[in-house]
Amino acid sequence: MNTFDEMFDFVVVGSGGGSMCSGLVFRKSAKSVVVLEKTPLIGGTTARSGGVMWIPNNRFMKRDGVPDSVEQAVSYLEAVSGGRNDTPGSTADRRRAYVEEGSEMVDFLVDQGVKLTRVGYWPDYYDEKPGGSEQGRTVVAELFDVNELGPWKAKLRPNFMTIMAPLDEMLKMQYINKSWEAKKIAAKMVLRTLYAKLTGKHYITAGGALQGRMFQAALKAGVDFRTDTGVKELIVEDGAVKGVVVLKDGQPWRIGARLGVLVNAGGFAHNQAMRDQYQPGTQAKWTNTAEGDTGEMIQEMMRHGAAIAQMEEMVGNQMSLPPGTENDPVKPVVQGVTAAPHAILVDQSGARYMNEAGSYMAYCKGMLERNQVVPAVPSWAIMDSQFIRSSMLAGTMAGPNKPANWFESGFLKKADTIEELAGLIGVAPAALRATVDRFNGFVAKGQDDDFKRGARAYDRWLGDPFAANPSLGTIEQGPFYAMEVVPGDVGTYGGVVTDRHARVLREDGSVITGLYATGVSTASAMGRVYPGAGASVGPSFVWGYVAAKHALANCA
Ligand SMILES: Cc1cc2nc3c(=O)[nH]c(=O)nc-3n(C[C@H](O)[C@H](O)[C@H](O)COP(=O)(O)OP(=O)(O)OC[C@H]3O[C@@H](n4cnc5c(N)ncnc54)[C@H](O)[C@@H]3O)c2cc1C
Repeated sequence: MNTFDEMFDFVVVGSGGGSMCSGLVFRKSAKSVVVLEKTPLIGGTTARSGGVMWIPNNRFMKRDGVPDSVEQAVSYLEAVSGGRNDTPGSTADRRRAYVEEGSEMVDFLVDQGVKLTRVGYWPDYYDEKPGGSEQGRTVVAELFDVNELGPWKAKLRPNFMTIMAPLDEMLKMQYINKSWEAKKIAAKMVLRTLYAKLTGKHYITAGGALQGRMFQAALKAGVDFRTDTGVKELIVEDGAVKGVVVLKDGQPWRIGARLGVLVNAGGFAHNQAMRDQYQPGTQAKWTNTAEGDTGEMIQEMMRHGAAIAQMEEMVGNQMSLPPGTENDPVKPVVQGVTAAPHAILVDQSGARYMNEAGSYMAYCKGMLERNQVVPAVPSWAIMDSQFIRSSMLAGTMAGPNKPANWFESGFLKKADTIEELAGLIGVAPAALRATVDRFNGFVAKGQDDDFKRGARAYDRWLGDPFAANPSLGTIEQGPFYAMEVVPGDVGTYGGVVTDRHARVLREDGSVITGLYATGVSTASAMGRVYPGAGASVGPSFVWGYVAAKHALANCA
């Protein structure tokens, strides 16, 4: 039945990272585009996120004299993600296409007036591998005055950071008690906030700034947006996707797509049934993704024959839940805690079991894998007083004054000796003592023989750059502290299999005509690894861009 209630050239399901990017490509060719978003807010988890995009060989690296090339980046991706036969989302072809298209996509956005830049120093997560970049390949948006959105302002999903500072500055501000640069940044931030108040501006940062700027550019270009408009079905005729069905006033409403449908509908982090099926042991209540991340579009694409892959993968983010935060939409993550000196992570037998300074994805994967052998969910962060004095913890500033209910509720355990602390967390005192003694031995020789913590630039960056040794410090000064750590996440990482043009594929490798997908609705081109900061948002943008170009190039 080829009848539609409405017709567009391109239909985008979900307002994630790639949605507006693809919309801009289409509008540049004066084609009509609609973005259908099921929640009341535009921007998806991308708007909530750090807004960092991992884009190799980008123009800002060139501007800043940071060396990179297509070949260097491809060799890095080969080193971290290549050589496997269980990652159909991550073929050599797709990895190369990602690198080649990514820098072009950034140039395109800049040409469209989207103000982007890079973070000065954010090492790739495996910077020691061939082709790794110590300076990093991250691209972010400049601060954005959200008031520029006018009546659409209220429609942009808020970011989790309300501070008026770019990410670069925020990363440095955590060291305010140690660094003059951080103090200067704080002063600048106060002045900026005052200036904003006086001039009626409202600066937003990170993913809010990125999606705010994209939203502004897309609106200006004439992209049509519909909120509270969830796609219920794909319309498939003769094996090709021709449009989608939404509900309008409670009735099915058929929207046709002349040149294709792009699914940019996020992953399935909030769908516990899918998690139980593909990622047993993980919990929807530990995700920081936006509430729309419920996976039904992945299921709908499967219903039409799409192949899926890498569904076991999530981008873990180690999390600790102080009392009262369990139901917060964005719960506190403790990414750098056990990477800093004077802290380690142990399983429920009191043993260390990984390099605690690895990427958040590797960290949580490590927890879940360890849990198959020894109970390790939750694991315990073990810290001494040197740590507590010098490092932030779960959203609190450095120093021993933590909220009273942290201790009353048992969230933060405190004891005068390691043995006593072991008793509080149900670990054999001799086992924890042995782990701590062994770790202190590594500190003394400046080298972690068990897990090489601190050997990479990334480890040291994540630790405490102002400490004598940024990664390793003794656990010896009481009182001692313990805190549960669970494998939370910032999104799933598997989904439908797509090719180098972002077309959705069937199991037999054939293309589902008219159907494109991007972002975490797809099996990542990075395979089972997080190569660097921005490896979720970056791909969502890049494949959205690629899909739009392909759909346009192939129109009759
Ligand atoms: C706090 C936090 C910080 C993060 N920081 C970073 C970072 O800096 N860099 C990075 O790479 N990753 C980061 N991540 C992860 C990253 O944000 C997500 O993986 C990524 O944004 C997903 O983008 P997407 O485009 O695939 O989907 P999303 O941005 O989640 O967009 C999908 C949209 O589709 C909508 N939708 C779903 N189903 C339907 C339907 N049936 N019909 C219509 N609409 C639908 C959803 O409501 C949602 O709005 C972070 C995550 C969090 C939570």
